[in-house]
This record gives sequence, structure tokens and C-alpha cells, in this order.
Amino acid sequence: RPPHHKRMEHKINVCVRKRPLNKKETKNKETDVVTRSGDLLYVHQPMTKVDLTKYLENMPFRFDYVFDLEDDNRKVYEYTAKPLVESIFRGSRATCFAYGQTGSGKTHTMGGEFSGKNQNCSNGIYAFAAEDVFKKLRQPMYQHLKLTVSFFEIYANKVFDLLNGSQRLRILEDKQGKIRVVGLVDQVVETVDDVINVLREGSRCRTSGQTSANSNSSRSHAVFQLSLLTPGRKAHEERTHGMFSLIDLAGNERGADTMSSDRITRQEGADINKSLLALKECIRAMGKDALHVPFRGSTLTKVLRDSFIGEDSKTCMIATLSPGFSSCENTINTLRYADRVKGL
Ligand code: ADP
Ligand code: MG
Repeated sequence: RPPHHKRMEHKINVCVRKRPLNKKETKNKETDVVTRSGDLLYVHQPMTKVDLTKYLENMPFRFDYVFDLEDDNRKVYEYTAKPLVESIFRGSRATCFAYGQTGSGKTHTMGGEFSGKNQNCSNGIYAFAAEDVFKKLRQPMYQHLKLTVSFFEIYANKVFDLLNGSQRLRILEDKQGKIRVVGLVDQVVETVDDVINVLREGSRCRTSGQTSANSNSSRSHAVFQLSLLTPGRKAHEERTHGMFSLIDLAGNERGADTMSSDRITRQEGADINKSLLALKECIRAMGKDALHVPFRGSTLTKVLRDSFIGEDSKTCMIATLSPGFSSCENTINTLRYADRVKGL
């Protein structure tokens, strides 16, 4: 049983998920260097003489929860995003991030399992969250609310609408001081199937890449938002009651060690690093109830500003790990980042 009650007193919940060794790693006789013991994680290399001391500090790391290899997306969802669904019905903002190197399982966790190249959009955190939102919407006390979804991508600090052929959009602050993505498609959805269709369209748009520049999803942040709308005071006016942003972040690997066949440019690497650093600072500020939230550092944090400053805002992060020795350095970097973000 997920210990929700205990976990969600915190504003920030940080969990870690490791994927199984893949075919290539197994073929290269790589071993799994990440070991769990309760909520502790060790990165080590038994049985070889490889010296890891240049990567390691005095381990281990401790997190709110560390998943087992056997744990599926449903379980990951229950321990991370699920408790936050409640909070958007209370009128708050929630965010859930998948953070890790390319190939570590961010898209698998958020978007759903892959069968071959195509994603089955019905068994990831996006779809599970939508399913729970619909369940609650059926309760009489929430009859006045309706759900809309949007799906966009941030590449090189520019916003592209995944539900509108990757059209480029601007962001600005409106008269009420709220950040808006101008012209973003906000699709009304009435069933889980509607949501799955939207996810299919958006995922296809993300991976097929309308422009060659953003064809590689590892370089962009994908943001899927569930918004609860309530009628405003004037006729035909609607107000956002609560919002859940679910984010599949760009790969956190340093520019230099990205697969050489598809090398990321220096500028792309710098943009990604900058946005992930800004994100870390914003989440840390949230945890400390800081007066100043440094959201201006990147488009990602600007778009999420209202989620960082809300009094009852909550966030969770799923740090995803590749288990192989060849990923060791990235694994340590991911764990250090997650460690800095976690609540005090
Ligand atoms: P990322 O989005 O972080 O780059 P992906 O989600 O695309 O990584 O995952 C890379 C590959 O690993 C995919 O083929 C995916 O199916 C597989 N994979 C990722 N996580 C898991 C997991 N927990 N169990 C089984 N396979 C996984
Ligand atoms: Mg991905």
C-alpha cells in the first residue's frame, strides 16, 4: 500500500526508477551497477577492478521511494503522481517530472510502454492520471468542473504545440499576471479514450518531428497538461480551477557523451543544461517557501511559473536510471540532481 498520507505532507516527492538491462548492454556483458536496499541506492561495480571512485561520493543516496525492477508503470504512478490528482481538485497546481538520461525510461514511464517503435499510450502516467481525474469528475460535488488537455514541446527555449502540427507559440503574461501560452490547443476531453487519442497524436507529432531541428525527442521537454476548468462570473467565461503538468524532460546527459551518430550541438546542450538548472532552483525554492522563485532562467520554468508559486503547489520527480556500467557517470549525475531537489 502506497503510504500516501505520509509522503504527501511534503511539497516535493522524489522517487527513483531503474530500467532493466537492455539487449545491447547484455550483449556487451555489462552488469547492473545500481543496487537498492530499502529507500537507499548504491552505485557500485562488484567483481571488477574498475575504479569508480572518481564518480562516487560517500554513498548511498536516500529517496522517498526506490522502485524495484518488477514494478510497473501503474505502481510508479501510485507512488508519485496519483496523490497529486487530489490536490488539483482542491484548486492547486501540481507537477510531475521524469528526469534522466536518454534511454533511461522517461517516455516509457510517462507516455506508456513501447511495442516496437510505437507507444501504447494507455499505460503510462499521463493516461493513468487522466483516468483518475475522470473518476473524480463523476462525483456530484465536481459536476461544475470540466477537463481539458494540452500537449506541447519546448525545444531550444521555443514552444511547439504537439496538438497542432508543432506550430510555434509565444508565451506572455496576461492582465491578471498569469503566464499563458498564446494559441495553445486546449482540447476538451470527456473519456479516457479521448485522452489516449490526444496522446497518440501528440506522441506521433513529437517523434516524427515536423521540423528537422526538433526531430529528436531527447532534446526537448514534453509537457502534458490536465486542466480543470470552472465557469467564471461572466457568461462563457472559464477559469482554471486546478492544473496538473506532467513532464517528460529532455535527456540530462552532457552534450559530449550523447551517442555520436546523433550528436547534440553545443548550443542545444547549453540550453538543456540551463533549463534543468533553472528547474532545480525553482523546485528547491518551492520546498523552502522562498519569496523569490528564479523562474526566468528558461522557457520551461517560465511556463511552469504558476505551479511553482502557488501556496499549495506540489511536485514529484521520477529520476530514471540506466543500470549499465557505461551509464555510470550519468547515473551519478542524475542521482545528485534528484538528491538536491528532494524535500528537506
Ligand atoms: P527515454 O525517454 O528516457 O529516452 P525511453 O522511455 O524511450 O527512454 O526508453 C528507452 C527504451 O527502454 C525503450 O525501448 C523502452 O521500451 C525501454 N524501457 C524503458 N524503461 C523500461 C522499463 N521500466 N521496463 C522495460 N523497458 C523499459
Ligand atoms: Mg524519451
